Amino acid sequence: MENVRVRFAPSPTGALHIGGVRTALYNYLLAKKHGGTFILRIEDTDQTRYVPGAESYILEALAWCGLQPDEGPGIGGDYGPYRQSERKELYQKYTLQLIESGHAYYAFDTPEELDARREAEKEKGNHNFKYDGSVREEMNNSLSLSKEETQARLSSGEPYTIRLKVPRDEIVSVKDIVRGEVSFQSNELDDKILLKGDGMPTYHMANIVDDYLMKISHVIRGEEWLSSTAHHVLLYRSLGWEAQMPQFAHLPLILKPSGKGKLSKRDGAKLGIPVFPLDWEGDNPEDSFPGFREFGFDPRAVDNFLAFLGWNPGTEQEIFSLEELVEAFDLQKIGKAGAKFDFDKAKWYNQQYIMATDNKTLAATIRPLIEAKGHQPSDAYLERFCGMMKERVVFYPDFWENGYYFFEEAKEYDEKTLRKKWKPEFRAAFDELRQRLQGLSDYQEAAIKKEVEAFMADHEMKYGDVLPILRIALSGTTKGPSIFEMMELLGSEEVDRRLGKAYADFDTIKTS
Ligand code: GLU
Repeated sequence: MENVRVRFAPSPTGALHIGGVRTALYNYLLAKKHGGTFILRIEDTDQTRYVPGAESYILEALAWCGLQPDEGPGIGGDYGPYRQSERKELYQKYTLQLIESGHAYYAFDTPEELDARREAEKEKGNHNFKYDGSVREEMNNSLSLSKEETQARLSSGEPYTIRLKVPRDEIVSVKDIVRGEVSFQSNELDDKILLKGDGMPTYHMANIVDDYLMKISHVIRGEEWLSSTAHHVLLYRSLGWEAQMPQFAHLPLILKPSGKGKLSKRDGAKLGIPVFPLDWEGDNPEDSFPGFREFGFDPRAVDNFLAFLGWNPGTEQEIFSLEELVEAFDLQKIGKAGAKFDFDKAKWYNQQYIMATDNKTLAATIRPLIEAKGHQPSDAYLERFCGMMKERVVFYPDFWENGYYFFEEAKEYDEKTLRKKWKPEFRAAFDELRQRLQGLSDYQEAAIKKEVEAFMADHEMKYGDVLPILRIALSGTTKGPSIFEMMELLGSEEVDRRLGKAYADFDTIKTS
């Protein structure tokens, strides 16, 4: 495939939903696979829905996922500007061209008139009023009014919109890479507004003009845009650009984890899972959302997970780096069926990535989390800690949650287990163990283990009598990595100090 130029074209109307990130990812993968260009275009022509901060959120989310655009706002490129609000004149120019060629017309109907008409239709039982070829002659537009009247209205400064004149009785077909041939009956299509009263284009007009001028080869976007494609095909045709029309690939819906219905931004809050890449702070709590990043995901896991929401390589392999995804990606292998947002699978991916990461990288990643808790471990300590914990975490913050006792004393003891395992009369033996450990010259995992075992033999005790108590004394819990390795890392002084304190604490716990 040559000259692949694809675009991710979000509207800055709020946080970018995770489905948008998937769209960006698929565009990126296709571009990189074919040595093409991945373009970011900001579709900000709807001033009423513009949300400050949304554009920088989009850029940050793409950067976090490693999906760096080759062209875009703030990046540059030969086809800019890449913000639609900065391209107004272009859309006006082409809309006028459509008027001149008879494919579009001026419409003077005021919002009040349109509402009244809609109401009147409702009373007649038609709840779905469309401004289309069946009614356009009855409306206030340059097709129904005389030339002079139209001219007079235009010169008087009366507000107007420009609408596409959709042809009657035609089948509009488009070949979609995912869905095959998709056909629309033109009588079902309304005369879409192309240019609004404020002189701004609508999505349809701006999108087509830009895809053409930016030499877009493939339009890869969510299924919700499939129905707009009929209008887009008509626009390409009317502008005389049919030969340059990009290929379309409409991505399957992302479904709720239950598989019932489309994943919505509210599902995140309902299910306690992120459905946005990064935290988003809205004007009120209902409009604020947690992000994958802040949840503690590794962006590589997010890319891998998202890649599989609608695509699969047709093999058993599930773990793909971004480079491997680029290699394997194929538009033909995108499925039609909705893809379930399986959060457990996302967690599984994250675990796989964390486990496969070297300790040095992990240490650098989690250092800020540990420092935020007031600890400054050495690199060596932190790396060793990561090595011991990485198979026991799902998210990055779990390193702290599950292993905080490597940095400070246990906050509480697992009393339930203590009640079963600790008896005040054990104190003398455990004091002896403490002393024996303190006397070790070689405070290494193997030597510690040997000493504990020797102690057990002397007292005819089993692992189950000793290790849970040691563990609880050192970490508060019975879960964790190898206790002997943990002791080595904590060091003899810290182990001794904690044992001393814990034994005293244990005596205050009522045991059965
Ligand atoms: N601005 C549209 C959106 O917000 C772009 C759709 C398209 O890719 O054509 O998703």
